[in-house]
Amino acid sequence: MAVSSAYERLSAALSSHVRQDERMSAHTTYRIGGPAALFVVCDTISDLSATVDILQEEEVEWTVLGKGSNVLVADEGYDGAVIVLGSQFKNRTVDGSHVRAGAGSVLAVIVQEAFRRGMTGMEFAVGIPGTLGGALAMNAGSREAWIGGIVESVTLLVPGEGLVALGGSEIRWEYRRTDLPKRGVIVEASLRLGPGDIQQIRRVMEANLRRRRRSQPLGVPNAGSVFVNPEGDSAGRLIEELGLKGYSIGGATVSEVHANFIVNSGDATASDVVALIGHIRSAVEDGYGIELRPEVRFLGSFGLA
Ligand SMILES: Cc1cc2nc3c(=O)[nH]c(=O)nc-3n(C[C@H](O)[C@H](O)[C@H](O)COP(=O)(O)OP(=O)(O)OC[C@H]3O[C@@H](n4cnc5c(N)ncnc54)[C@H](O)[C@@H]3O)c2cc1C
Repeated sequence: MAVSSAYERLSAALSSHVRQDERMSAHTTYRIGGPAALFVVCDTISDLSATVDILQEEEVEWTVLGKGSNVLVADEGYDGAVIVLGSQFKNRTVDGSHVRAGAGSVLAVIVQEAFRRGMTGMEFAVGIPGTLGGALAMNAGSREAWIGGIVESVTLLVPGEGLVALGGSEIRWEYRRTDLPKRGVIVEASLRLGPGDIQQIRRVMEANLRRRRRSQPLGVPNAGSVFVNPEGDSAGRLIEELGLKGYSIGGATVSEVHANFIVNSGDATASDVVALIGHIRSAVEDGYGIELRPEVRFLGSFGLA
């Protein structure tokens, strides 16, 4: 009831696209996931604000999706609303040493823009798929650097409050997580970069890309690292040492290239991936007494313990 009423109200109120029963396999890099009850592409801040208000009033659960490169959606789908940031959230401006960009901007586009202008500070992010919003929500990065380290400010849409600007130091940046998604929808951010030597920036970016091509199963659907690395160790190393490379459940397989990646070998379901995650966690706990924490975000009902 709440969903159909929300659908009617959203369709009437917004210039943005509202769809029902949108298959999430089309919106995740895993190419997995059943339908979201509602799927809303918000092109403007006023549409986003109205969408959030209506969903709150109708008591329909909602979430924001970037490029779905870190998300596993349940086979049964998600009975709430998935919000995607559209055109107005892809703008960006460069002012001195700062790049200000909408949260729907593709991260790679910002990385390329910084490179073209000879601005240093984003080389670590080359090859990370997804949007700026997703990168901020996840504090995406490499072992050496992460996006939180270059954030000057973030603007959030906070339900019931409107737009709220936060300085970088007012945000809790942890390893592959932040408090941002709990606080609101990330709509924009300003990144602090420095003047650099374009040839040196190119060398670092190329080296990072080479390392990625060697160590990641590119070209097969996946969602990046499945687990965050335990302190002082590497989840991939632990999983590989247990001989789990190539281990499959249904269509989900531990990558032969990097053991911390689970790939969709063609017909994987979310249940296959979750079963494989469970198997790996138990094996690592039994073998090393280490509890691996998933980095991948789950959307929908999985009945996880
Ligand atoms: C091949 C491959 C390589 C990868 N390599 C890396 C890597 O080197 N380092 C790394 O850190 N990650 C890596 N990842 C994981 C992933 O790309 C990052 O986490 C990325 O930043 C997610 O961005 P996204 O737009 O796809 O977010 P999504 O996957 O769509 O969303 C991720 C989370 O962010 C939230 N979110 C998204 N946008 C917003 C918003 N505007 N406001 C509030 N919350 C929001 C979502 O609700 C969700 O909880 C890799 C993934 C793949 C497939």
